[in-house]
Amino acid sequence: MFKDIKYTLLSMITVFKHLFKPAVTLEYPEKKLKVNEYFRGKPVVKQNCSKCGTCMKVCPSGAIKIQDNDFIIDLKKCIFCGNCTYYCPKQAIKMSEDYELATSDKENLKLIYKIGGENEHNI
Ligand code: SF4
Ligand code: SF4
Repeated sequence: MFKDIKYTLLSMITVFKHLFKPAVTLEYPEKKLKVNEYFRGKPVVKQNCSKCGTCMKVCPSGAIKIQDNDFIIDLKKCIFCGNCTYYCPKQAIKMSEDYELATSDKENLKLIYKIGGENEHNI
């Protein structure tokens, strides 16, 4: 009985301590989180990619495929390790700040970048 009262009081004290502090959560999606510069979001490929294939070799999960002018990243396989960006000799691939990757269609998880052409995914 006394234990219950003690824990109820303790939890109330905790609630009151945080009542007048600013909120630590955001009203997503109206407000979006500003991620730090080291955040690893959706990988994006730039036009200066030379199709050397280094990123494909260092990708631990086989998420990258290069077919003709298509540079394909399968987000179902990508583990967001950033290896492809560290080893690219042209700095042509980078991890963006885009973390809004949820989808109900798994086809949307296949990113197809057109190398040497315009594409909505390219930066
Ligand atoms: S992104 Fe970089 S490492 Fe990958 S194929 Fe293009 S130039 Fe080579
Ligand atoms: S971030 Fe890692 S897993 Fe994803 S494509 Fe690059 S190397 Fe592969």
